[in-house]
Amino acid sequence: MKAAVVPALNGQWEVKEVPTPEPGANQVLLKIHASGLCYTDVHITKGEIPTEFPRILGHEPVGEIVAIGEGVTSRQVGDRVGVPWVQASCGRCEWCLRGKRMFCAQQIGTGVQTQGSHAEYMLAYADTTMLLPDNVSYEQAAPIFCAGYTVWSGLRFADPKPHERIAILGVGGLGYLGVQYSKAAGFETIAITHSKDKEKLVRDLGADEVVADGEGLKAIGGADVILATGNSYKAASAALGGLRPDGRMVLMGVSDEPLQVTSEAIMNRTRIIGSTQNGSEYLYEALDYVAKGKVKVIAETYSLNDISRAYERVLKGEARFRAVIAM
Ligand SMILES: [Zn+2]
Ligand SMILES: [Zn+2]
Repeated sequence: MKAAVVPALNGQWEVKEVPTPEPGANQVLLKIHASGLCYTDVHITKGEIPTEFPRILGHEPVGEIVAIGEGVTSRQVGDRVGVPWVQASCGRCEWCLRGKRMFCAQQIGTGVQTQGSHAEYMLAYADTTMLLPDNVSYEQAAPIFCAGYTVWSGLRFADPKPHERIAILGVGGLGYLGVQYSKAAGFETIAITHSKDKEKLVRDLGADEVVADGEGLKAIGGADVILATGNSYKAASAALGGLRPDGRMVLMGVSDEPLQVTSEAIMNRTRIIGSTQNGSEYLYEALDYVAKGKVKVIAETYSLNDISRAYERVLKGEARFRAVIAM
């Protein structure tokens, strides 16, 4: 099969022939139809998230099951599925026993401890695959498996109540979905972005208000929840002032900057919440909004041969809003 292989730390991605894998016990083989690029692919290539090279990256995989391994009973050849980041875990530690596999130190991450989806075929543990709704195309589904899942998980984890206001900080690969999810769930939705050129698009996606920063947010009455979707904690720190009393900020983008909190947080009972992907019920819901036409993926598509160009676009933050390899 053809695959995009990262040969070494900081290596140049190269598309080459590698052996097609065969499913082991409890595994399925997917013929990949679409594979989204995530900024995390950059973090892994640069060694900021450790892996062993050579490595095929890609953790927004969707495709069709073409072979099943021993012991697989709930999936069959022909099923359309996608695979999230956490594919398997030890099953024995405290966090696995509590049903919180995202905290398992032995977890197997797609494209990190396994070969990922920037390839014609990929193995996956059958139990973690999610069936795709019939009317959702592969290109629409792929970015939901990381970007959509992450942002909807974060919104759910903030536990917003009726009448609360949600602000989305950053309108990139996660943020443009955050605006749509918040609106689809019925919340008054505010986008925080410095990009004047994104204002019309963000309003078309469902934002009721668009402000430049925390001060702008405060001036229009503030928000109860801020989803910090970008990679800048400087921007997140600046946005904290726009939280209303009992407000929550959800951090979901990785940053090397520290978050700065002032003692205003005490008087306001501000909560800072870290969040990744909080369980498959949120993945189910994230896909269901796409199936209902309430959330739409906006992506640039590339062929597998052209993946280096897609990676460059992601690296420079130029992809609008996601780069997806379509097979
Ligand atoms: Zn990702
Ligand atoms: Zn475990």
